[in-house]
Amino acid sequence: MKIQLLPSTFDSSGRATPEQRLTCYVIDDRVAVDAGSIALSLTAAQRGSVRDIIVTHPHMDHIATLPIFIDDLFGELEEPVRIHATQEVIDVLENDIFNWTVYPRFSELKNAKSKVMEYVPFRVGEEFRIAHLRAIAVNVNHIVPTVGLIATDGERTLAFSSDTAETEEFWQLVNRTPRIDALLIEASFPDYLSQLAEVSRHFTPASLKKELRKMKKHRDADILTVHIKPSYREQVVEELNALKIPKLRVMEPGHTYEW
Ligand SMILES: [Zn+2]
Ligand SMILES: [Zn+2]
Repeated sequence: MKIQLLPSTFDSSGRATPEQRLTCYVIDDRVAVDAGSIALSLTAAQRGSVRDIIVTHPHMDHIATLPIFIDDLFGELEEPVRIHATQEVIDVLENDIFNWTVYPRFSELKNAKSKVMEYVPFRVGEEFRIAHLRAIAVNVNHIVPTVGLIATDGERTLAFSSDTAETEEFWQLVNRTPRIDALLIEASFPDYLSQLAEVSRHFTPASLKKELRKMKKHRDADILTVHIKPSYREQVVEELNALKIPKLRVMEPGHTYEW
């Protein structure tokens, strides 16, 4: 399996920089997990091949350019862009984003060939198919309904925490999954902002270290830290490196990781 964290920040000459302001991962050029930067940094080929998007929660950094992505593709789609999410998240997207005021309700629109957007609800705890993958999502501990998930192509398996603080079901899911090749987990704030991390339900390097003790299996899995708040990036990276957890590294936007 191949995965990228799409860049969301660029310098004045258009080159991607390491700060992560928006969240969007692309798996095997086909499936996106969240859609923060989806309209900004897909390759032309990926624009033609990504038609399935999992939305873990409706925070703006995870959906910011989803409406723009569908708008860009409107005339050329030969099949709808499928949004996979819990019904709760779908309701927020329909009522607060695709509501004819903020943006058109694409779920009601067609081009000459196809509907342009379709919701595919999934239930937490139940396996669902998405493109060539199978996935299971569970609730995590964030300030709005949010899911973490695992996704597998049948051979390799990736786990995504999404945005969360201390959580249980996610680790139960990870621990009962026979194989995990990589875990993408958030570390938003530096340790001195632990209180802010707590109220906004995110991790700091110190709370992440504690949390990782719940991962009882898969000691050999790669751990990629993500969702580092750009204003504190340097410090968070330093604190993460100081944890000296083997296999833990900071995920670089734009880089392709493969297992
Ligand atoms: Zn969030
Ligand atoms: Zn976020």
